[in-house]
Amino acid sequence: MSKYEVIIIGGGPAGLTAGLYASRAGLKSLLVDRGALGGQMVNARLVENYPGFPEGIAGSELGLLMHQQAVRYGLEVVTAEVTGITQGQSCSVTTTEGNFEAAAIIIAAGSEYHKLGVAGEERLSGRGVSYCATCDGFFFRDREVAVVGGGDTAVTDALELTQHASKVYVIHRRDQLRAGQVLQERAFAHPKLEFVWDTVVEEVLGDKVVERLKLRNVKTGQQFDLRVNGVFVAIGLMPNSHLFFNILELDDAGYIVTDDAMATSAPGIFAAGDIRRNSARQIAAAVGDGVTAAMSAFKYLQETRE
Ligand code: NAP
Repeated sequence: MSKYEVIIIGGGPAGLTAGLYASRAGLKSLLVDRGALGGQMVNARLVENYPGFPEGIAGSELGLLMHQQAVRYGLEVVTAEVTGITQGQSCSVTTTEGNFEAAAIIIAAGSEYHKLGVAGEERLSGRGVSYCATCDGFFFRDREVAVVGGGDTAVTDALELTQHASKVYVIHRRDQLRAGQVLQERAFAHPKLEFVWDTVVEEVLGDKVVERLKLRNVKTGQQFDLRVNGVFVAIGLMPNSHLFFNILELDDAGYIVTDDAMATSAPGIFAAGDIRRNSARQIAAAVGDGVTAAMSAFKYLQETRE
């Protein structure tokens, strides 16, 4: 079993920053991620609110730069799915590419899109069903699409989609948006946006690609079809914390509970970024969490070695 001082789970901005700081602090560090490094930000065409880039920067480029910077200082990276962690004298991390051991762990595994869980959604995923307007909006030039949800993501996605689509429906299960006031005002004023209130999606229909949605008004019970070429699901995120529920304290929504030092309920295990409770879910905030987690891991290792 390969031994490290710190193992970081997740290669988004929190994990990569933790890796940078841990490596620069001289800790033998390994980062495990199952896919392309950068996390969710790789899907952002343009990140405009990360300080230091006044013209904005593509999320994929920012991810690449963070990765390059961290490995320059000695961070090792393995592409693998983590299948479990166990805690004894030290922590062992089992993955699809072998088992690793470390005295400290930083969990920065982020979150995933919630699914609607209706018939047709999975079958037509990538064939009109999408979870990322920035990634897939381009494919719907002059077509009609729907966005499901009423939060900041749904309204931001809907506004972004107006740049491509000829018409954008926003389907929301209530008659009030959860999104912030400024976004709401922009959305209500947009001529291409139409709101379908008090309505849920019951089925995504289409032979090879999305052709229409079967909808139901939750107040009247009335069912009706809406013809669209695409549907963007924007109903929130789910933390990737299912592996940790038996060893760490999680909140009701499954987010890892941490203190200000990013320490979890288990000694030597820290959490950073979107996976932890009360995260601001912003790249800059995840970066800050990564710094704190790495510094706390460093301090923990010093104290436990004494
Ligand atoms: P969110 O705030 O949790 O909103 C999720 C939306 O989906 C809600 O309107 C919810 O309806 C609806 N919903 C949830 N489950 C549903 C289901 N099964 N069927 C139908 N509708 C469902 O998630 P988010 O919009 O992804 O935002 C996540 C966080 O990121 C928030 O803190 C947000 O402020 C932040 N964010 C900020 C920006 C920005 O530009 N500032 C952009 C994106 C995200 P109800 O309203 O009825 O609960």
